[in-house]
Amino acid sequence: KEKQIAVGVVGLGSMGLGMAQTLAGKGFETLGFDLSGERKALAKKSGVIAAGSIAAVFERSKFLVFSLPTAKDVAGVVNDHLDMLKSRKDDRVIIIDTSTSEPDVSRDLAATLAKIGHGFLDAPVSGGPSGAASGKLTMMIGGAEEDVALARPVIEAMAAKALHVGPSGAGNVAKLVNNLLAAAHMITTKEGLKLAFSAGLDPEAALRVLNAASGRSMMSEVHFPTWIMSNTFDSGFSMGLMRKDVRLARELAARTGARLPIADLVAELWTGSTDLDDSDDFTRMGAFQTSN
Ligand code: NAD
Repeated sequence: KEKQIAVGVVGLGSMGLGMAQTLAGKGFETLGFDLSGERKALAKKSGVIAAGSIAAVFERSKFLVFSLPTAKDVAGVVNDHLDMLKSRKDDRVIIIDTSTSEPDVSRDLAATLAKIGHGFLDAPVSGGPSGAASGKLTMMIGGAEEDVALARPVIEAMAAKALHVGPSGAGNVAKLVNNLLAAAHMITTKEGLKLAFSAGLDPEAALRVLNAASGRSMMSEVHFPTWIMSNTFDSGFSMGLMRKDVRLARELAARTGARLPIADLVAELWTGSTDLDDSDDFTRMGAFQTSN
């Protein structure tokens, strides 16, 4: 019966492609659009209907799942389609924006869409490309209770854990807090392993200890063993996106008056690491043997 629910996925990158594949695999009629033809071709191989235009996705979908790089991209896509959404009166469309976006932008978009009878949820995710492809993401949601209830089947298809944390913008705040900590953990874990190494303790042994003791985090449990100690550096999350997240967390702190000395240093380290490009995988920040 879920076949009747059309879900449109806008942005088929590292995360969006996996989400589209998951939705299609679970029986939703899934339309996908990306500016890149290559990404659309990949989606098509997994049962996603590759749309010729983004307008076609907006026309047909009851739910729109966004997975775009920045808040600017999200606002651009919504604002370009306001007229089309206005013409879909009495047919509530709900946008589930999984991008790591900005709380103020999400609040504005939710208010604009509410006026014309549509819903907008900020619903950023954690769990990486593998979580997207397996439907096991953690999702943090901001928005109206009724919209979360309506979108529940789509949300649950993508996320093993979906936490509705507050009104519009709250999901984005939660995600920025989470990624600030992940960014800090990447650096502190790297420093711990560097200290172990320089003091003559095998970093592999040090990592085993951290993961059995109080120094552990997802960075030590997943990222270091999977992508850093193995020297593969292919987690599918880019330096540029993590730099965006720490910048946004710092801007949020400045706007709200929260004094966060460590966050300032963390942001400086991520943005100031000039030996790494925005297109590099973010796990390269953990390479403790290559820097001094
Ligand atoms: P990505 O760069 O791999 O994918 C983004 C895709 O959006 C690209 O394929 C691009 O062509 C497409 N795109 C850009 N503008 C578009 C437009 N106007 N219309 C249609 N398509 C457009 O990025 P990603 O790693 O998939 O991340 C997407 C979002 O999810 C980001 O906000 C990121 O911060 C967040 N995120 C990423 C991860 C991860 O592990 N990669 C984890 C959690 C959250």
